[in-house]
Amino acid sequence: MKVAVAKETQVGERRVALVPDGVARLSKAGVEVVVEAGAGERAFLTDQAFVAAGARLVPNAAALQAEADVLLKVQPPSLAEVEQLREGTTLISFLPPQASLDLIRRLAERRITAFSLELVPRSTKAQGMDALSSMSTIAGYKGVLLAAVAQPRLFPLMVTAAGTLAPARVLIIGAGVAGLQAIATARRLGAIVQAFDVRAATKEHVESLGATFLQPDLKDEKAEATGGYARELSREAQDRNLETIGKALKETDVVISTAQVPGKPAPRLITERMVKEMRPGSVIVDLATESGGNCELAEAGKEIERHRVIILGPVNVASSVPFHASSMFSRNVSTLLLYLLKDGRLSLDFSDEIVKAMCLTHEGSVVHELPKKLLEPMPAGVVPQGV
Ligand code: NAD
Repeated sequence: MKVAVAKETQVGERRVALVPDGVARLSKAGVEVVVEAGAGERAFLTDQAFVAAGARLVPNAAALQAEADVLLKVQPPSLAEVEQLREGTTLISFLPPQASLDLIRRLAERRITAFSLELVPRSTKAQGMDALSSMSTIAGYKGVLLAAVAQPRLFPLMVTAAGTLAPARVLIIGAGVAGLQAIATARRLGAIVQAFDVRAATKEHVESLGATFLQPDLKDEKAEATGGYARELSREAQDRNLETIGKALKETDVVISTAQVPGKPAPRLITERMVKEMRPGSVIVDLATESGGNCELAEAGKEIERHRVIILGPVNVASSVPFHASSMFSRNVSTLLLYLLKDGRLSLDFSDEIVKAMCLTHEGSVVHELPKKLLEPMPAGVVPQGV
């Protein structure tokens, strides 16, 4: 079986799906690994390093696709790339099911078996395959560094001959995977850290990292959905929580916001009025702008200044740490591949919880319930939502 590693084509993408260590891991299991020349270049991984680990190089994407039994990518393929794939190829990449419906339909029509890394189940068994969490870890870390560079103050307490400088006060909104890493990073830099999340379970994690937990006001509302994710809150609960966040923001130098609700726009938790009340020179790093943003002033991909507050909306943050992001991604996909291999070949058992959760298309059909439902034609007389 041949596993192919593509050179990413999306503008600004610097990661590669498999690193030399992953090549060695798969080769040991009897898999042949083929790598497109230059695939690791932007992550500072040379072609020679891939060859030394046991891979064979091919000169371009066409040569790679002609051989691939399994194609590994970080970003979803473009529609044009899907047309180039051989029928029967298995694709493993990020592939958000709600946002890629045309792509999913075409993958099925072209008889590609597609696995979405957004759909790794949140179970102990699948933890080692969870590339989304790996990338969130990197985003949380890098988000704090971006804030440290942008802010006009220092992070740690400094006692110097020129006076004592107070430590930065940091607020982390959303204490999931990215938020917890942001807490740890801000603490390592010497900041005083507070964190806010609507899931009660996060309190313990926040406190174990040496930060203070800001208690949400939910009354009787349940904030936790299945799989450890948050659910969307009612308008009233959201407003009560805005008050709590607003109060904390007045005494905060740096905010890192990471709040997300799967399949929904990111909750709006920082309004313009709240920004106006922050201290001049404060910094907001909104890590949720790709799904709409937590701060109503943040702009995806931009650094702006509003009301004397610096607001960053970085996108694809993991790609800005391409060496380690690729290394973690590679570990996650190679763990998935080894799980799917039986006697050196891919063997898909659709009663398996991981296969069932992640596989979108197989043998000419859309097999996953979520895109299947979204792709179903509307019964006559039903007006689609949003029209
Ligand atoms: P995420 O990226 O979907 O959300 C980030 C955080 O935002 C979450 O903690 C969420 O509660 C919070 N949030 C949502 N709405 C909010 C609001 N209105 N106000 C404030 N905060 C809000 O989630 P994630 O970080 O990927 O994961 C969440 C949790 O899932 C993790 O903390 C972990 O416990 C669990 N998890 C389990 C596994 C596993 O078992 N294999 C893997 C990864 C994560």
